[in-house]
Amino acid sequence: MRYEKEFHSMDIKRNVLLNPGPSTTTDTVKMAQVVPDICPREKEFQSIMAPMRRELVNIVHGGDDYTSVLFCGSGTICIDIALNSLLDADKKAFVINNGSYSQRAVDICRAYDLPLIELKQPIDKTPDLAAVEELLKNNNDIGYVYVTFHETGTGLLNPVREIGALAHKYGAFLITDTTSAYAMIPINVYDDNIDFCMASAQKGIQGMTGLSYIIGKKSIIEASKNYPMRSYYCNLYMQYDFFERTGEMHFTPPVQTIYAAKQALIEYRNEGEEAKWNRHQRVMNAIRAGVDRLGFREALDRSVQSGLVSAIIYPDDPNWNFEKIHDYCYERGFTIYPGKIEAKGTFRLCALGVIDEADIVEFWKVFEAGLVKMGVSIPVKYEG
Ligand SMILES: *Cc1c(COP(=O)(O)O)cnc(C)c1O
Repeated sequence: MRYEKEFHSMDIKRNVLLNPGPSTTTDTVKMAQVVPDICPREKEFQSIMAPMRRELVNIVHGGDDYTSVLFCGSGTICIDIALNSLLDADKKAFVINNGSYSQRAVDICRAYDLPLIELKQPIDKTPDLAAVEELLKNNNDIGYVYVTFHETGTGLLNPVREIGALAHKYGAFLITDTTSAYAMIPINVYDDNIDFCMASAQKGIQGMTGLSYIIGKKSIIEASKNYPMRSYYCNLYMQYDFFERTGEMHFTPPVQTIYAAKQALIEYRNEGEEAKWNRHQRVMNAIRAGVDRLGFREALDRSVQSGLVSAIIYPDDPNWNFEKIHDYCYERGFTIYPGKIEAKGTFRLCALGVIDEADIVEFWKVFEAGLVKMGVSIPVKYEG
């Protein structure tokens, strides 16, 4: 690759990020951001975005009936935009809430004062599909059903295909937040009954932060032209329409991040959908091997996990201290992350980014040495 040759001598320190994104990137993606200054209104810059929009649809196997719309912002901007832009005046939003990211969707609906049906479900199990169907049956004014594809706080994988089928059966469409699955777990918008999904460049495609995208059905976006406009900056139709007419983002794009994303998409293609997913699974198997060897317990049964996030319960050991073990690992190039489960202390190890099995083997050596130094007994102990 061109950048590899040119910048080989830069020697950027490689950190292994086991947090749920931003994740470890290649040096070629990092260096792709270093470009001559350019005004993003130039044709040269615009010519990057049309193929990028197509490629983002291709990743989830969408045809010409799907499009993608780019936004400058972190992943949450897509949740905000999809929820507020795609609801007609006489319709209700239906959010399945079983984790911190779907709670965020509920909070966004409340912030816009959207008519909302919230189905609260346990965070450690897949949702009750009969309850989902019951609500759809009893509310014929539901516009969309919203579900988080992969709840990154716990690692729970939701049954999106089944939920999408139910939404369609009752005349609603499906929005799913695929931010922590897109370009990692293979997704097919037709087979998976997805009308809208979304992601952010720093996660699955292994790019940089600041670029996020919604991928969805053109016909629904076009119909949303006449829906209430609840935000000026965060509106899906307005950005879509501007792209279609001019090939540009409505407001200043994250220029350098887009160059990085272009390179990241080339590398995604070179690795391949299946090989990449196999690599993520290899990483997770290595994570689980260490969890089991040291006697740690996970918050969720493996049968309901995505295979991208392991939420590990703090051991009951007076010498355990998350901050200390975090700092010990961080100083040695490994970043671990606190959990997001209110009821119990957990930390997370994630299989995102440009890492492989060997990194995890190295990580566990460091982590175990950290436990020994802290005086935590191995295997770790739990009461009860
Ligand atoms: C990372 C993530 C987001 C985006 O979070 P930001 O902090 O806004 O980047 C949204 N949804 C899920 C499921 C995520 O994992």
